[in-house]
Amino acid sequence: MRLALRTVLAAALLLCTEASASAFCRTTTCNPGKEACQVDEKKCVIDGVPARWTKMPLVFRFKRGGLSTLVREEARAAVRAAFYRWSDVVCPGGQRTSLRFVEGEEIDDDKPLEPGARARERYGIFFRDLGWPHKDADRTYALTTLDFGTRSGIVTYADIELNTTAHTLSTGDSDGDVDLQTVATHEVGHYIGLAHSVEENSIMAEALCEGGDRCARGKVAARRLAQDDLDAVCALYPSWATYGDDAPQGCAAAARRRGPDGEEWCVAAALSVIIGAVGALRRRRGARW
Ligand SMILES: [Zn+2]
Repeated sequence: MRLALRTVLAAALLLCTEASASAFCRTTTCNPGKEACQVDEKKCVIDGVPARWTKMPLVFRFKRGGLSTLVREEARAAVRAAFYRWSDVVCPGGQRTSLRFVEGEEIDDDKPLEPGARARERYGIFFRDLGWPHKDADRTYALTTLDFGTRSGIVTYADIELNTTAHTLSTGDSDGDVDLQTVATHEVGHYIGLAHSVEENSIMAEALCEGGDRCARGKVAARRLAQDDLDAVCALYPSWATYGDDAPQGCAAAARRRGPDGEEWCVAAALSVIIGAVGALRRRRGARW
């Protein structure tokens, strides 16, 4: 199962303008671009199994070099900020989401400039300065690719490509060009398993700046997560406190990890809490994952 999710520039007709506090949708193993999938009243695909990660922290890695059109470190800082915006969310009850990211080592090999290609190494962030191999280059700011098990939904590969060939994605706070951090924040939403939301102020709205007032107050405001997005990350990656005695202290020392912020948490608990029935699936299907 391969699913590519695009941020499009053109106006998308948003059929639902109702201000719902939880309109977010998850990416599932049913790909509406390729097959018939049932959707609910929020246009969320309800067929298939939600895409899900099986380990924390989630990794992202920059491609070494590249980036002729942007100052590299400023661009990377904008992308990092996009990742950490999601993992900094404080959920109801005052505890931070269990979502964590870690920046891995740079990767050497570029992703081939071909539609449908995959990079040799996973979790790459690619600034596409040398061409955009996907369709609708003029209408597409970025593309997030997730591979996941067709039955399990378990993510096995992910990358984000930023279309710096066809678009000037800026890193400053002044208005004008399209804001890289805003685009990257949307793509990270896909990276963690979210699909587009019909809530027009969500960072996961299908078209950037086409609905709601997200972009009306300048770039810095446009980078924010809406209530819909906060609901999404807290639903998919709840804080450990939600689980009371089942959370970190319940795991063996070998399963404990210390996150980039120094906070200790439990890998085994993360898996059982976040991916639910995967343990049962794994037992039935052997070592596929
Ligand atoms: Zn998108």
